[in-house]
Amino acid sequence: MKKIIIVIDGPAGAGKTTVGRMLADCLGYRYIDTGALYRGVAFEAKAAELRIDDDSALENFCKTLKFEFVRDKRGVRILSGGLDITEKIRHPEITMLASKVSARPIVRKFLFGLQREMGLKKGVVLDGRDMGTVVFPDADIKFFLDASAEIRTHRRYNDLKSICYQTLDEIERDIKQRDKNDSSRDIAPLKPAPDAIIIDSTNFSAKEVVHLMLSYIKEVL
Ligand code: C5P
Repeated sequence: MKKIIIVIDGPAGAGKTTVGRMLADCLGYRYIDTGALYRGVAFEAKAAELRIDDDSALENFCKTLKFEFVRDKRGVRILSGGLDITEKIRHPEITMLASKVSARPIVRKFLFGLQREMGLKKGVVLDGRDMGTVVFPDADIKFFLDASAEIRTHRRYNDLKSICYQTLDEIERDIKQRDKNDSSRDIAPLKPAPDAIIIDSTNFSAKEVVHLMLSYIKEVL
């Protein structure tokens, strides 16, 4: 069967990562969480105490970064310079810094190249904010996954409760701030591609969303 490029964009907590992983597993495809790359840049910039408004320092810094995705029995992991940073990048402080870092054109340019390289070998599911609009406008199928702010807050709360303590109110505040940052930035703002299939997952389980996506994908295949 022919191999294709599938992209899933949408706001924080819409279920992109859960659904993206399940979809990739169903199809035997690779799964790439591009948010993890922005989080990786934020994590490393913080560790290096780098000022993220200093473009030339940021550009040189990006050149030193080496990210890769690997699979082990826990699932897809992200390595930076060979070290596993998968859990570390989920902390709320890194989450908010990733949102700021992602508005820097220099960072987007660096990750654009990396994402294109990672995705070009077909048989891949990529999720993010600008996959269908900027990075893979040529994707074979584009989804835009949304859900109500309330359900997204609850999903994020459940994802995070094992690694940090944040109240529902704090998570809701962070999600709203990130929605605002991501949708209002000048470069690659969060919005559906004109040819994206929009799915509202508010009242659906991850399995149901995957099932629906597979029905669209079958048409393309
Ligand atoms: O998807 P996730 O919540 O892990 O993304 C973290 C942050 O990275 C987002 O808030 C967004 O600012 C940024 N991001 C982006 N473009 C992408 C993926 C993520 O700007 N393709």
